[in-house]
Amino acid sequence: MGCATNGVSPRKVFFFDIDNCLYPRSTKVHDLMADLIDKYFATHLSLPWEDAVRLHKEYYQNYGLAIEGLVRHHQIDPLDYNAKVDDALPLDDVIKPRPELKKLLGDIDQSKVKLWLFTNAYINHAKRVVRLLEVEEFFEGVTYCDYSSVPFTCKPQPAMYQKAMREAGVERYEDCFFVDDSYQNCKKAQELGWTVAHLVEDGVKPPKTPACKFQIRHLDDLRTVFPQCFKGSASEGS
Ligand SMILES: [Mg+2]
Repeated sequence: MGCATNGVSPRKVFFFDIDNCLYPRSTKVHDLMADLIDKYFATHLSLPWEDAVRLHKEYYQNYGLAIEGLVRHHQIDPLDYNAKVDDALPLDDVIKPRPELKKLLGDIDQSKVKLWLFTNAYINHAKRVVRLLEVEEFFEGVTYCDYSSVPFTCKPQPAMYQKAMREAGVERYEDCFFVDDSYQNCKKAQELGWTVAHLVEDGVKPPKTPACKFQIRHLDDLRTVFPQCFKGSASEGS
């Protein structure tokens, strides 16, 4: 029996980011998306291409989401943006089921840990990606950025992590595991008290200061850093 928790011990929650996390960066979804976003900026704000690219980058850095800046400063309809960017991505051609991902998720002990998706994308995109990866069955729910509710709540705002915890039905920060490829998202999660692995894929330069205690190169390394979440592990907390 585990002895790390006292009294009733509900399942912990393992939050998974989706994009560039459940599938590798090499699928280049990020590039496809960046291109559609640049086009959206150029078209809808009537900007020359270089200005569109620059502003996109600026909003992404300031707000974590390009669309946040568009809505704040340009009265863009976020659902129109979603339709022309996220939903317009030709994902069927690039995101394929990955046996190693299914194996990894299947090896997590769901009697101890609830799997939950946690994304800054809108729900359509989240559902589409996990469907293409054929991993929907492993996740009990998803916390997404609701583009229909302005101003947005998204990672790394503390309110977004609290929303995720509420939706996943977990009360204590120390009962939350998390993996994300975003430095800022990982840093904030750890500050709040989550146990966090920052995914820095091979070929991506590791940050000078790590975002959090655990930094991994492959999603499979979760087995090593969070063994207590996997089947066949000894009692947790040791
Ligand atoms: Mg990501």
